[in-house]
Amino acid sequence: MGVDLICQEPKVCSFDCVYCQLGKTDRKTTIREQFVDTEVVRNELDRVLSITEIDSLTFSGMGEPTLANNLAEIVNYIKETYPVKTAILTNSSLLGDNDILEALYGVDSVVAKLDACNQASFKKINRPLKGLLFEEMLDNIKRFKYNYHGKLALQIMFINDNEPFVKQIVKIAYEIDPDEIQINTPLRPCGVMPLSKERIAAICQEFRGFKNVISVYTSNKPEVSAIDLEEVRKRKRPEP
Ligand code: SF4
Repeated sequence: MGVDLICQEPKVCSFDCVYCQLGKTDRKTTIREQFVDTEVVRNELDRVLSITEIDSLTFSGMGEPTLANNLAEIVNYIKETYPVKTAILTNSSLLGDNDILEALYGVDSVVAKLDACNQASFKKINRPLKGLLFEEMLDNIKRFKYNYHGKLALQIMFINDNEPFVKQIVKIAYEIDPDEIQINTPLRPCGVMPLSKERIAAICQEFRGFKNVISVYTSNKPEVSAIDLEEVRKRKRPEP
């Protein structure tokens, strides 16, 4: 089940990725705030978890979830109250913030985005907030991996712009040494064409030295059902 601590439109993010399925980022920021009252989140979790059997909760949604400054509070509440695993999808841009690190150390699985291999490709693909530096983000991911005891997955979205840099990205991935590599390409409408199955298969070959590599085309998708269809429609445009 997804938990969205931002829960507002337009999305709030430190990036404006060319492939974002949520559309353009109008509020590009690294300033954290409380988007949804902690008490409201707790009550909603209690309500849903009392009527639905959930094995894991994933923080994601309308932007970058680490921008929510009540993340740690919510993570702690879940850990103390429910026997469920937690995961978070992050764009990796705020891993230098100690409060965010403390929150993430309490999450069982962190899926960190890394689509670029240098500042130029970072700017072209992720279009980060001015001042965000690729090398700094990379150092923060490596430091996080060193200190973190949960499962770190590196999620890489491959499109035409970064396909030529696959070898450089593989080299960087070795330096990070994640527990899992997730190879993606945008399959939902977003103005950027996805790479074909064959091209993604060739990219996966480049990552063959890693123990766990999963690809968007071949991974087993768990069966899911919507708790609130209207909310799901807001976040996911239909596949073609
Ligand atoms: S980091 Fe995620 S939410 Fe933010 S712009 Fe990129 S894809 Fe969209």
